[in-house]
Amino acid sequence: MKTLYGLLGNRLGHSISPQIHSLFFNLLGIDACYHLFEVRSTELVAALDGLKALGAVGANVTIPYKVSIMEHLDSLSQQAGVIGSVNTVIFRNESAIGDNTDYKGFETMLQRYDIDTANKDVTVLGFGGAAKAVIRYLLDNEAGKIRIVVRDKSKVNLAFPPAAETQVDIIAFSDCCEINGDIIINCTPVGMYPNTGQSPLPADFVSSYHTAVDLIYNPLETAFLQDARQRGCKAVNGLYMLVAQAAAAQELWNGVTIDMSEIEKVYNAVHQILG
Ligand code: NAP
Repeated sequence: MKTLYGLLGNRLGHSISPQIHSLFFNLLGIDACYHLFEVRSTELVAALDGLKALGAVGANVTIPYKVSIMEHLDSLSQQAGVIGSVNTVIFRNESAIGDNTDYKGFETMLQRYDIDTANKDVTVLGFGGAAKAVIRYLLDNEAGKIRIVVRDKSKVNLAFPPAAETQVDIIAFSDCCEINGDIIINCTPVGMYPNTGQSPLPADFVSSYHTAVDLIYNPLETAFLQDARQRGCKAVNGLYMLVAQAAAAQELWNGVTIDMSEIEKVYNAVHQILG
């Protein structure tokens, strides 16, 4: 019998997670199915219980439940607890365990595109589930300075104290006309399908950066990345991170090791589908 996996979120029409995971299942020789489960917030607990009851092996979690699901899980990995967000659930021994593979996905993407954040001045747009994993990575890897740009500064609660050598500033979008730095990372959904053409910042704000990363992968080039590329920045989209975080989830669910060459194979196949 096929083993069961899925994605919990509230609007999943654009998701390519089923294609990515079925490519990994084929590579790993696992007979499984991966479904999209669109659930309302009031039904999140019922959906988790349902997956448990059906014997699911694992699930991913996306907008808007990465933080709110935490209180409904039986336990959290140390990584998920420190980051403060869950994108992967492992069902084991009748327990639902929350973990976070966005961190590993982000790290693998930076390696692949040769982006070094140590001692760099990095601007992060947004402070949702994905941004928390990105900020944790930047703190662990000694970014020189981190600017977190948000709509509402009162929502930013750094659960983890910054390392002494990293300065962290929190800025409102409405005040950020003068920001600059080395690397800018869009962790908001602004510009994501179907609202393509929108950007979280005016085009000229990105011109002082040498690298722009957008965690969005649909479209492959958002307006934010297009603005950055046209102003001479290195521009990297979120597709490789998406594939790498899925690989890390497979490792947690199935106790396997997936190397960069296998991630690259899946990335190329998915890039073709989206292209
Ligand atoms: P989330 O938890 O809902 O957080 C979204 C963040 O964006 C919040 O800080 C939110 O601020 C901010 N935001 C939303 N609309 C905004 C707007 N119009 N202007 C300014 N800020 C806005 O979502 P998430 O899970 O972090 O995901 C964020 C994006 O990253 C999505 O596009 C997702 O697809 C992408 N992502 C990609 C990967 C990958 O592997 N490539 C992994 C994870 C996420 P408020 O609190 O003020 O609403």
